[in-house]
Amino acid sequence: MAETTDQRADLLLRDAELLVTMTGAEIRGGWVAISDGVITGVGEAGEEPEATRVLEARGCLVTPGLISAHHHMFQNLTRAFGPALNRELLEWARTGGEMWVRLDEEAAFVSAWIGFAELALGGCTTTTDDLYAHPRPNLIDASIAAAREIGFRFHPTRGAIAVGEDAGTGQIFRGAMIQDPDAILADTERLIKTYHDPSPTSMVRIAAGPSGGAVATPGLMEAAAELAERYDVRLTTHVSQEPTEEEWYLEYFGLKPIDWLESVGWATSRAWIAHCIFVNEDEISRLARWGTGVAHCPTTCCLVAGGVTPFTDMRRHGVAVGLSVDGTGCEHSSMWLEAHTALLLGRLRAGPMGMSARDALEMGTTGSARCLGREGELGVLTAGACGDLVAWPLEGVAFAGAWSDPVEAWLRCGPVSARHTVVAGKPVVVNGELQLPNVDEMLKRHDEISREWQGAYV
Ligand SMILES: [Zn+2]
Repeated sequence: MAETTDQRADLLLRDAELLVTMTGAEIRGGWVAISDGVITGVGEAGEEPEATRVLEARGCLVTPGLISAHHHMFQNLTRAFGPALNRELLEWARTGGEMWVRLDEEAAFVSAWIGFAELALGGCTTTTDDLYAHPRPNLIDASIAAAREIGFRFHPTRGAIAVGEDAGTGQIFRGAMIQDPDAILADTERLIKTYHDPSPTSMVRIAAGPSGGAVATPGLMEAAAELAERYDVRLTTHVSQEPTEEEWYLEYFGLKPIDWLESVGWATSRAWIAHCIFVNEDEISRLARWGTGVAHCPTTCCLVAGGVTPFTDMRRHGVAVGLSVDGTGCEHSSMWLEAHTALLLGRLRAGPMGMSARDALEMGTTGSARCLGREGELGVLTAGACGDLVAWPLEGVAFAGAWSDPVEAWLRCGPVSARHTVVAGKPVVVNGELQLPNVDEMLKRHDEISREWQGAYV
């Protein structure tokens, strides 16, 4: 069972209550060894290699680091903003847009930095980020700088709004939230050339990501798909988040959302789509045939309250379904909480045999990895995969009596935050504490910027 190495490891995490590899093995008392950011061995107690640093995982479930397949980190500056809440989605977004036009490099850096820190505490080791407000240049550059400072694995997607209020199609963004399609494509290309690393251990990969049919012209969508093909990068957008969306697509494009995706060249395994709530059985089977993934955002489904992504049906059809937090769509950035909510929604949809904790864990690991085109590299604990893992404590009053199935206990009891979060072999969270020297300073600056933005809202 053990995949061992004779060499001394950089990091050894040992003595797990249960270690789940996501490649079929669940090991009581298991360990993982990592060197140079890559897993070098996984095995049973008594076979551990020597290591420079050791993390104890006694009483913990150890899993691959969770992967968020969708996010908008800049929105944490307007999180739970009272005047925007308890309204329809477009009204909420209109209110946000009035503040998001203030985004600059410092705000992008600080919001991403806090975003990564929160994700790490919630057991996440890789995230995407759809930054679609570009009132000033180089904002994704700033968020990549934050990822590098923290050591987080990052897949930023070059979000974009090309159609606003002026177009008369019922859209709500205006002013500096809107960008010209040529500028969007040029910046996407620049980011790919500057940052995209296709290697198996990559810490940064760029995707093209016009942020939805209603806010992108068909020409921009087609050109983004061509650009992605040319540079061999991935594609993402929002589709079918609202009950009224299908009607809107039929009015302006004469096509339903999934037909429209196909019409603009997005029927491809390069693409993964956020939300995808209002799709029928035939559309699901087409997504499966195309190899197009879906980023499910469980809490957003509940808070937006339009409907729930039919993710259990999608998984039954073989669609790659990942799990995601979603900016202020869900307000928090705990991937544990998203997995827990997916468990609840899945059982509501598909019954008690239709969704288990292991299914939710699969969505947050191998499912999201498939969406990001990183199958086998991320979301598994096996020799050669990236050294990203989480130790989840299953101890204390919340877990008293829950000893028979640590995976089910992990997601049914709790809530749980990470005891240890390791990204590319580097501990970012140890014993529940961020291993970053300037958390208080960054929180202070985040507070100042968010108060400035929200205070200026009229
Ligand atoms: Zn979104």
